[in-house]
Amino acid sequence: MAINIDIDFQSLKTTGIKVNYLYVCERKLWLFDRGIQMESSSDKVLMGKLLGEHSYPREDKKEMLIDNLINIDIVGDDEIREVKYSNKLAHADRIQLLYYLYYLKQLGIEKHGVINYPKMRKRQEIILDIEASQEVQTALIRLHEILRLDKPPQLKKLPYCTKCAYYEFCLAG
Ligand code: SF4
Repeated sequence: MAINIDIDFQSLKTTGIKVNYLYVCERKLWLFDRGIQMESSSDKVLMGKLLGEHSYPREDKKEMLIDNLINIDIVGDDEIREVKYSNKLAHADRIQLLYYLYYLKQLGIEKHGVINYPKMRKRQEIILDIEASQEVQTALIRLHEILRLDKPPQLKKLPYCTKCAYYEFCLAG
């Protein structure tokens, strides 16, 4: 049974990319938060942006930036959609979209989510149910615990470290 967590959303709300990074790697989240932002030069991020811009040219695409924190790729009447380059980090894509749905719900807007992986011709439906809401709340609490640390979390070898923009930085450290 889901346990309701009472959180102060206004003080915990953050950007979608940080929620994504929480599930990718807590060290990456910390480094990114401290302004060590190497992702902009990453080919994959660029590819993701290009896919987002060109994958659905016929669609009535509406991008929405809310509070300068969350930037939703496509906002439709009943759903929101994100377009991702690869599904290798599907767990992080999922929590990011759940966070968007949760954020919208705080504003009184209820929708469901879809993640499109056009390169793989896949789509994943995302529903914000009670358990998922609780997962978002727990993630926000954990995220702020990480950001309060004086030092970055210890390096953990992850399967995607070699593809990470911080790989050389982590190796040098
Ligand atoms: S290289 Fe690995 S440990 Fe370092 S930030 Fe990236 S994912 Fe995390």
